[in-house]
Amino acid sequence: MSVNIAIDGPAGAGKSTIAKLLAKRLGYLYVDTGAMYRALALYMVEGSITLSDEEAVVAALPQVRVTLAHLDGEQHVYLNDRDVSKDIRKEEIGNAASAISGYPAVREKLLSLQRDLAKAKDCIMDGRDIGSFVLPDAQVKIYLTASSGTRAKRRYDELAAKGESPDLARIEEDIIKRDEQDKNRSISPLIVADDAVVVDSSELSIDQVVERITEIAAEKGVL
Ligand code: C5P
Repeated sequence: MSVNIAIDGPAGAGKSTIAKLLAKRLGYLYVDTGAMYRALALYMVEGSITLSDEEAVVAALPQVRVTLAHLDGEQHVYLNDRDVSKDIRKEEIGNAASAISGYPAVREKLLSLQRDLAKAKDCIMDGRDIGSFVLPDAQVKIYLTASSGTRAKRRYDELAAKGESPDLARIEEDIIKRDEQDKNRSISPLIVADDAVVVDSSELSIDQVVERITEIAAEKGVL
């Protein structure tokens, strides 16, 4: 049976940075499920489909194929065979993903892809509902969080480093809005799974978080 490590948590908690490093260290596959929701959202945004119109979003789903490939340890996401790994990283697309991720048909479309990947390989999968719903039998479940101020500042620094001129207050507002949407939707909301260990990264460096999760995995007998 494959080993699965689930990392869930709110936007900007550092899940993907940590999961990528851990996957490299352990030789596991890294699966970023947020990227799948973002790819679907990109399709809707590019097609000018109204995100709040569930019927229109659901009607478009059969035209969309989301696939993943791992090249040199990096996850690439394809939207109808086009590599959209970079295009999906805009804040606008993250917010659009959150706007459509509460629709049952959207979640259903991505679920089997996520479960099949986890069955086939030892993997670290990050998202919102991995420990609570997608992989209930994952051997290790982490809920990675940080204060909204810390998360906003990290996003701000990332964007500033890319030469953009971000607005810190606006980023924090978006993060809080996204948290609310993700926690309060009726299907697969962002929750702490019963058997998850909460790691608050507000006061920890990236290395310290990686160490802490490695310790937790060792305590669970996985490593
Ligand atoms: O993690 P990321 O910011 O890329 O996720 C974008 C959005 O996709 C989230 O705000 C959330 O609404 C949705 N998502 C989800 N379930 C997951 C992963 C992401 O609903 N497992």
